[in-house]
Amino acid sequence: MFTQDQPRLLNWINGEFVNPISPQSDGSTTQYIPVTSPYNAKVIGQVPLSTAADVAQAVAAAQAAFPAWSARTIKDRAGILIKFHSLLTKHASQLADMVVLEHGKNKAEAMASVLKGQETVEYALSLPQVVQGKSLEVSRGVTCCDTRVPLGVVASVVPFNFPVMVPMWTLPIAIAMGNTMVLKPSEKVPFTMTKIVELLKEAGLPDGVVNLVHGTADAVNALIDHPDVKAVTFVGTSHIAEMVSQRCHRLNKRVLALGGAKNHMVSAPDCNVEMTSTDVVNSYSGCSGQRCMAATVLLTIGHQQELIDKIVTKSEGLRAGSKAGEVGPVIDQASVDKITRYINEAEASGARILVDGRPWTKEQNEGFWVGPTVILHTNKEDAALHDEVFGPVLSILAVETAEEALRIENANPYGNAACIYTSAGATADYFTKRFSAGMCGVNIGVAVPREPFSFGGWNKSRFGNHCDITGDGGVEFFSLRRKVTTKWVAQENASWMS
Ligand code: NAD
Repeated sequence: MFTQDQPRLLNWINGEFVNPISPQSDGSTTQYIPVTSPYNAKVIGQVPLSTAADVAQAVAAAQAAFPAWSARTIKDRAGILIKFHSLLTKHASQLADMVVLEHGKNKAEAMASVLKGQETVEYALSLPQVVQGKSLEVSRGVTCCDTRVPLGVVASVVPFNFPVMVPMWTLPIAIAMGNTMVLKPSEKVPFTMTKIVELLKEAGLPDGVVNLVHGTADAVNALIDHPDVKAVTFVGTSHIAEMVSQRCHRLNKRVLALGGAKNHMVSAPDCNVEMTSTDVVNSYSGCSGQRCMAATVLLTIGHQQELIDKIVTKSEGLRAGSKAGEVGPVIDQASVDKITRYINEAEASGARILVDGRPWTKEQNEGFWVGPTVILHTNKEDAALHDEVFGPVLSILAVETAEEALRIENANPYGNAACIYTSAGATADYFTKRFSAGMCGVNIGVAVPREPFSFGGWNKSRFGNHCDITGDGGVEFFSLRRKVTTKWVAQENASWMS
């Protein structure tokens, strides 16, 4: 797929690939870190750790592109996204292959993530139909109208776990609204977005409207601190999301920082056991558990042996691999170590490991593997029950009552998603009104609100001062409201405000 062994990635600035600036003003040369494929741990590329100088170059390109881009009509901007959408369709399989290689999803999951990213593009290209402002005669002869204007240069910082989909949560809406962007891909999965920016250019996007800068913390901090960057979106772990949010707040900069998750599922005694077991297994093991929407704690109201047996059987049937239905690797060795540590600790504190994925770490000849794991806890303090493990691990705990389940769910610091499995509408209603989570499911373990609905959690799953991401939340985040109050003819009986 790549034209040379271990290629060095380039930044994409002003419509072309450019080397990071080197030597820097202090004489130092750019540092590179290896990118590995989780399937075999082979190095597939070298990603530059861009610095403030590289960020400044990208922001300057975005700033220069802003006047002409924002002056275009929204229909004109959306027209480019229509072409981009058809190019995504044409290249979906190739993009999915890149996601498989650099991230480790199976091909079906990778394709689904590309298609999900396309849904946000569809929403963005529909914006000319829905973002008209409001107008009202607020006093005799006086009209007030409210329109949306772009912010300027915006920054988007994304995590490793969805190399296409998460960047698509911000990019299409941001540029459709007339902003220009600097995006920083995850250093763990930097390749896929380099293809996407080429497709944007092919679709007719003017140079400088979207720029890519590779790197890690230094590049992110430089983006936040740059005076011409008007707003920052971030998606990643909670502690970094909180730091990003606080840094933006100190600069009085608009920020939306989505963090990690620990999503709970509650199975009521009347749940459909067959459907629930399939759904629970898909939720915790899909994408090897590396989803912020993966539900990884199952609270059974009472001991539900039949449900547990089915979950165990279905989990034991999962195989390692890259085909549809198979479970891929996790992102890196640090992740393998972290996941197995949580399983070991739970076992040491008395939990029963009903399905043990630890042997996969050795059974696979190469790469970063942990198999589907089901833990039946007895100690409510086990860290695996409370922390984000970010691997294919399900924690099961039997509780006595619905209230106990809710107490446990509500006490968790995160608040991305929660799900109730039941056959009764009243039970579903009871739980969805009491979960402390932004995205609730009824018999759906991955309750992603798809476009046109916005996406976003509560509590420590989201920081910042602005709305949700995607859908109308994205429109709100990526625009300022301008109010214009107009009078052409003096009216005799106008109010004092007129
Ligand atoms: P991460 O926090 O390690 O990295 C996210 C981004 O932050 C990357 O681009 C990275 O280069 C950058 N970064 C790393 N260190 C930084 C620092 N000190 N300062 C500023 N930026 C820094 O997250 P990850 O491991 O790539 O992604 C997995 C996490 O993302 C999980 O916690 C997952 O739940 C979360 N996530 C959340 C959502 C959501 O919608 N809430 C969606 C996807 C992923």
